[in-house]
Amino acid sequence: IPPGSHQVMSKIIAVSNQKGGVGKTTTTINLAASLAMADQRVLVVDMDPQGNLTSGLGQKAGTEHTVYEALLGHGELPILQTPVDLLHLVPADRHLAGAEVELVPLEERERRLRKLLATVRDRYDFILIDTPPSLGLLTLNALVAADTVLIPLHCEYFALEGLADLMATLSRIGNSLNPGLDVEGVVLTMYGDRTNLGAQVAREIRQFFEEKVFNTVIPRNVRLAEAPSHGLPVLLYDPRSRGAEAYVALSHELLSRNGAAPRRAASAKA
Ligand code: ADP
Ligand code: MG
Repeated sequence: IPPGSHQVMSKIIAVSNQKGGVGKTTTTINLAASLAMADQRVLVVDMDPQGNLTSGLGQKAGTEHTVYEALLGHGELPILQTPVDLLHLVPADRHLAGAEVELVPLEERERRLRKLLATVRDRYDFILIDTPPSLGLLTLNALVAADTVLIPLHCEYFALEGLADLMATLSRIGNSLNPGLDVEGVVLTMYGDRTNLGAQVAREIRQFFEEKVFNTVIPRNVRLAEAPSHGLPVLLYDPRSRGAEAYVALSHELLSRNGAAPRRAASAKA
């Protein structure tokens, strides 16, 4: 491979957990931005009608084509540049909610995103798909399109509740629509050090998922919550924050687990 050329390691990762508010969108944006700043070519796909990934990357709702039209067979995937070099976005808005029913009568309704991504995946090292807090057709499309699933877990008492449903869905999909589907890993999010509860929950999660749990833990950090209202990943909004450092560390851990070194060190400095 000539120096400076991109290694071929295209990987599609669905970021999923049917619980809301566990850090799916925050992880998708900031992990993707950290990978892009480590010289990986990254595409993020918004599959949540709430469109938080889209707005969190500074894209205003309403004007552009979205993933919705493409899923229904009207045109190609719209791909937009984001504020981060090497990071591209397939946007969504609230119209995507209609796809949960409009896809039902269509042929290959669970494979629509997979087919769309097949046409672009060789342009990227990583494609991260943000999913809605449900196990409906939008999430199913993401899980059928993906090579692996990254599961964010909020370090709180009920973190493991409902996970049986997700694991059952994953094994069902693995047995039928997407036999190669694997778990990329589990990320502990919003870890607070004020109480012992977080540590205890983290221990339980590590017992359950063992080596699948990333060593990097994402702390509760207000900068992570503020950044989306500025339309920026935390690495651009406050590169010195603990949140930025954590997502850089997570991106390095993901790269090394995948046998790839960052092409250049993702810097937490602007
Ligand atoms: P999901 O996509 O799973 O619904 P979000 O990523 O939108 O979850 O996170 C839910 C809320 O928590 C958002 O307001 C987000 O800004 C905030 N949040 C997420 N991660 C953190 C964190 N590590 N520290 C502080 N706030 C966070
Ligand atoms: Mg979300």
